[in-house]
Amino acid sequence: MQYLPIHFDTRGATILVVGGEAAAEAKLRTLLKTEAKIRVIAKSISPEISRWAAQNKLQHIEREFEASDLQGVSLVYAATEEDAYNGEIADMAAARQIPANAADYKDACRFITPALVDRAPVLVSIGTEGTSPALARALKADLETRLPPSTGNFAFKTKTLREKVKAILPDLADRQRFWAKIFSEKNLTEQLRLTSLELEAQVQAELDGEDTEAGKVLLVGAGPGDPDMLTTAARRALHAADVIVYDRLVSDGVMELGRREAEYIYVGKTPGEPSIGQQAINDILLQKASEGLLVVRLKSGDPLIFGRADEEIDALQAQGIPIQIIPGITSAAAAAAAIDASLTTRGTNKAISFLTGHDAKGFAEQDWASLARPGGRAAVYMGVGAARFIQGRLMLHGAEADRPVTVVENASRLNQIITYTTLKNLPEDIAAAGIKGPAILLIGYAERRAKTETRVAI
Ligand code: SAH
Repeated sequence: MQYLPIHFDTRGATILVVGGEAAAEAKLRTLLKTEAKIRVIAKSISPEISRWAAQNKLQHIEREFEASDLQGVSLVYAATEEDAYNGEIADMAAARQIPANAADYKDACRFITPALVDRAPVLVSIGTEGTSPALARALKADLETRLPPSTGNFAFKTKTLREKVKAILPDLADRQRFWAKIFSEKNLTEQLRLTSLELEAQVQAELDGEDTEAGKVLLVGAGPGDPDMLTTAARRALHAADVIVYDRLVSDGVMELGRREAEYIYVGKTPGEPSIGQQAINDILLQKASEGLLVVRLKSGDPLIFGRADEEIDALQAQGIPIQIIPGITSAAAAAAAIDASLTTRGTNKAISFLTGHDAKGFAEQDWASLARPGGRAAVYMGVGAARFIQGRLMLHGAEADRPVTVVENASRLNQIITYTTLKNLPEDIAAAGIKGPAILLIGYAERRAKTETRVAI
């Protein structure tokens, strides 16, 4: 170990940064979070650094660096845009026993700054001694997703609870066992997301010798299919799950992210085929959560749009099972993104309806008169089989035959298909394109002309 990682107390310290452009700015982003007084010496500074100076977050001295500037400072960052000059400044600092860092000049550095995952007061610093900055960045990105923003609060809360636990468990080994149990490895990420009150309740229950293995159901949006369109919270939930209860439209790519050891339960409903009933799904969720397991109920898109979420929420809440909802990108949003269309357009539509083509009784009736008005726009879910019905109803209520309709099948997935058509040709064009679903019908949305031209130009 060539470099010793230490956490430097910045209270009362003055940190000198020489330079005012990109390299200095990068260092300052971290330094400004400390409690040190920050002094920047540079003839000119970037707009971002000027803003910080104007906010009194740092002191800017507008001139070239001089040796006397090293007087009374605790640390030096030589961060001009000239590597050799940075090296010289670092050497001058070293001669005065002041630790210095020279930007982009590792050999001249007396210390280097690690990649940082900042959940203050919890700090994870990652250093590779310069061997692989890319690996450090990858590790940082990985930890960033796994440590929720609440980690810092969690640490503060633990601090207040430590006294309480110490009073009841005076023996150190007992206390270590106690805290190890609280931080049980499997669900560490979930644990870190607990609110202060939940943590306090858990610690109290554990002290009282109660069974603290309470189950929970997370209702998670799996997005339209592309795993990159999952929220970070959804990824975390998938990593932590004991049980994953999933629907037909949840993509394989998303399923890949589930914890390997989790139990997987498929509860997909295929249109027109006998499949598992809603009651049976509710029962599975209740059963697994009452066993103290962390259940992830994974639904395509957003769980609260055409996902029968309220039936599951009601059933769970009636039994006192805690639930938490993690929203997802709904397929209408992904379909609009696939065709570069804004769902709302100033002056064109002040509202957009999310409709279902089917409901429990068959084809779904809607407020057709309002949808048929000029400029009416809607995103239709489960609309492929109902296309002729929707066309008929809209035209009956006076919608123009040439109103544009865009159909996006498998939005965001590798097998995505886009068909631009009109109300008049909707059912025929859906059939001609071989679209069977899952698809969204975007009524009132045309192909962007600019996009067509680009395509022609290619
Ligand atoms: N909760 C989901 C909708 C579930 S209803 C959401 O927010 O997206 C099922 C319907 O969603 C399908 O019939 C289809 O209309 C739509 N759908 C789901 N995934 C889709 C995708 N990748 N592309 C297009 N439509 C999709």
